[in-house]
Amino acid sequence: MRVKSKGTVYLVGAGPGDAGLLTLRGAELLRRADVIIHDALANPELLRLARAEAEIISRGNNMAMPQPEITALLIAKAREGKTVVRLKGGDPLVFGRGGEEAEALATEKIPFEIVPGVSSITAVPNYAGIPLTHREHCSSFTVFTGHSDSADEATALRYDQIAKIPGTKVVLMGTEKLHDWTKTLMAHGMPPQTPVAIIHRGTTGQQKTVAGTMATIATLAANEKITPPALTVIGDVVKLRGKLNWFENRPLFGRRIVVTRRSEQAGSFAQRLAELGADVLEVPTIKITTPTEKDAIVDCLLELNSYDWLVFTSANGVTAFFDIFFRRFQDLRDIGGARIAAVGPTTAAKLRELHLQVDLTPEEFTGRKIAEAFKKYQDIENVKICLLRAEVANPDLPDALAKMGAIVDDIAIYKTVSATEDPTGAGERLLEIGADWVTFTSSSTVEHFHARFDLPILVKKFPKLKLASIGPETTKAITALGLKPSLEAKEHTTDGLIAVLLKAAKAQGLDLFNTS
Ligand code: SAH
Repeated sequence: MRVKSKGTVYLVGAGPGDAGLLTLRGAELLRRADVIIHDALANPELLRLARAEAEIISRGNNMAMPQPEITALLIAKAREGKTVVRLKGGDPLVFGRGGEEAEALATEKIPFEIVPGVSSITAVPNYAGIPLTHREHCSSFTVFTGHSDSADEATALRYDQIAKIPGTKVVLMGTEKLHDWTKTLMAHGMPPQTPVAIIHRGTTGQQKTVAGTMATIATLAANEKITPPALTVIGDVVKLRGKLNWFENRPLFGRRIVVTRRSEQAGSFAQRLAELGADVLEVPTIKITTPTEKDAIVDCLLELNSYDWLVFTSANGVTAFFDIFFRRFQDLRDIGGARIAAVGPTTAAKLRELHLQVDLTPEEFTGRKIAEAFKKYQDIENVKICLLRAEVANPDLPDALAKMGAIVDDIAIYKTVSATEDPTGAGERLLEIGADWVTFTSSSTVEHFHARFDLPILVKKFPKLKLASIGPETTKAITALGLKPSLEAKEHTTDGLIAVLLKAAKAQGLDLFNTS
């Protein structure tokens, strides 16, 4: 008889907010998990690492599921033999009741592992340009909670002593009681002019810092509507922020930018925006599936040798074509001797990845310009061209080629359909708080985004929301909805789109987002 093996529970630190600060071990376990139970502080973007079949349980807001219920759930899932990841903000054993969860697992003899995380204690001051120690300022730091209501002598905070310890102080969870504990510390002798900074949602695109002194910080934070999660740093090191504020000085910092492309493609675009400081909302609106009409593809594959040109108009088209191609053929040589054209540098790059040389890369993206590029290359009268594109693609290109005498087969090699899932809650956040920019990287992102959010209504709801288009085809889809993009990329790539966003951000100047 096979004894069902007991599952293991991994208490994994998710890091302070920036998804890039998860450990390698944490990422490996998230990819492997059967069940992920995450708390509100853990960045939901990390859930993208999960397997599609993984069961994901959110605690939602902190109070939604009582602690005993979470602990019971960890035990029950492990007893079912599951690999359970308990994903906790920052480090799992710092102020997060991770110690209690581990104790319960030990009592129940459930195997567990604790994966440390980058704690907000060090990461958040770091992203606010505040070193916790510095040879010229201090040689220690003290961490405490500003939320302690412990009546227990052993764990109650000794403010009289804290006020006297030299060095930097880091206060977690103290936002709502900021006024009380700053007053208490001053009453115990901490100088009112001691520099203080409070940082909301540090290490994320939503980071907001307010700096002042012991005497002023509570009022300043209230004026700036600083809410939890926030962390307070006290001490002379706060002054170094003037010089070291690397994160908040990034060119797109303070800008919330929506990325609408497919999640597989969004990655690098979203990451580049985030590295420029933007608060990125990844709301993929498109998924790629197999096209409705399959016979045409089969015919095309059988006749590959008869074509003079294979034309790809997107990286998706390249991927989809070779997926299907290799289902039928074993040998790349079966592609035949046709020349290859790629519309756009990303498409060309995708082909080069496969070690296929591209014979023609039209630089302009409209149907007519592409057809002219062919004409410049060779007379296309009676030349047989196979277009490998999305289902329901714009007819301009085949029409223009046909007009010049080419024989065109327009093959739908993939189909884009709406993605409606919202695993990270980014879609919900967009509807709740709006954004500065929505970026569109193809006409289909416009159409599918509109189907999901009703673009004109969204723009009306958030009058500051602006639309950014990657090029003329995408702009056409936006204008078809009676709207106008504020920006159109000059070079029709995501880099080109980033360039115009940067220019616009510079022209606007920073919204005086931070007070210091
Ligand atoms: N285990 C976590 C701390 C949990 S207690 C860690 O190691 O970071 C929750 C408190 O941590 C919050 O109230 C806040 O004070 C702080 N915190 C966590 N993430 C934060 C962030 N991104 N920005 C500011 N404070 C944060």
